[in-house]
Amino acid sequence: MSESGDRTDGEPLPEVVARCVSVLRSAPAGLVTDIDGTISAIAPTPAEAVVESGARAALARLAGRLAYVGVISGRAALVGEAMVGVPGLTYVGNHGMERSLNGVLWEHPMAVSQVDAIRSALLGIGEAAVAAGLDDGLVVENKRLSGTVHYRLAPDPLAARGLIRAAAEREAAARGLRVTEGRFIVELRPMVRIDKGTAIVDLVAERALKGIVFLGDDLTDVDGFVAVRELRQRGDVAGLRVGVIGPETPAAVTAEVDVTIDGVVACARVLSAIADALDRANDVANLRGASAPPPSSANPNAGATGG
Ligand SMILES: [Mg+2]
Repeated sequence: MSESGDRTDGEPLPEVVARCVSVLRSAPAGLVTDIDGTISAIAPTPAEAVVESGARAALARLAGRLAYVGVISGRAALVGEAMVGVPGLTYVGNHGMERSLNGVLWEHPMAVSQVDAIRSALLGIGEAAVAAGLDDGLVVENKRLSGTVHYRLAPDPLAARGLIRAAAEREAAARGLRVTEGRFIVELRPMVRIDKGTAIVDLVAERALKGIVFLGDDLTDVDGFVAVRELRQRGDVAGLRVGVIGPETPAAVTAEVDVTIDGVVACARVLSAIADALDRANDVANLRGASAPPPSSANPNAGATGG
């Protein structure tokens, strides 16, 4: 079930912001965001995508306020890190199969063992597309631990998708890989149960988080949304699933989020408003601490009445 915030332009989205802040007050708390379609507008090709500057600035501010701020993407971790460019964030890439923190990379060993299989399978799909005369406009992206074929620019995306999906299934079956899909993409991944959901479960456990907000826009984010729901249902973690919605949003995404935001520009504003709200909360806490110390820490003489 999804519930929309204020969809007008210009103002932040008060309800979405309030619900995020409420979860993020369950310290230690973390905020995790997808990149493409969430903080970066979908571009004709992956190389052309640019992260919203407002989102970048907000993530940097949030990193100073929260126990954990992470980026989780289907892109390679180092590519995500270069795109977002905020130091100190954890960049989870290839849907959880690798992580980079300040340029230091960790890769899942099982996924590393499939690098050659991924490369060969992508070549096979490319050859099938050429043989069928459907290679025009395809972008084949080898991300080492996974591979993506983008057909957004194909003259007939539907025909391209059918061909790519079938070729991917053949290649995956022959090489022990698995196939997933997203918006105008078919992906090849190692046969290992790692996705954005397992990545979120792991980070919540590792950091002992009590609150988690996850923002995403596509089918591969649904794994993350389901994980946050399940963590919340177990009762020990506050969680909120934020869907960034556009004309291509798959129904599976809207069905598995708690709140929605219309597009990446509005998402950047929401992130900024969350940082503002946490700043205000922090200021209020500081003011309270300065002007009204709790009785246990007060000067014992302060309450004397002269008697
Ligand atoms: Mg995305």
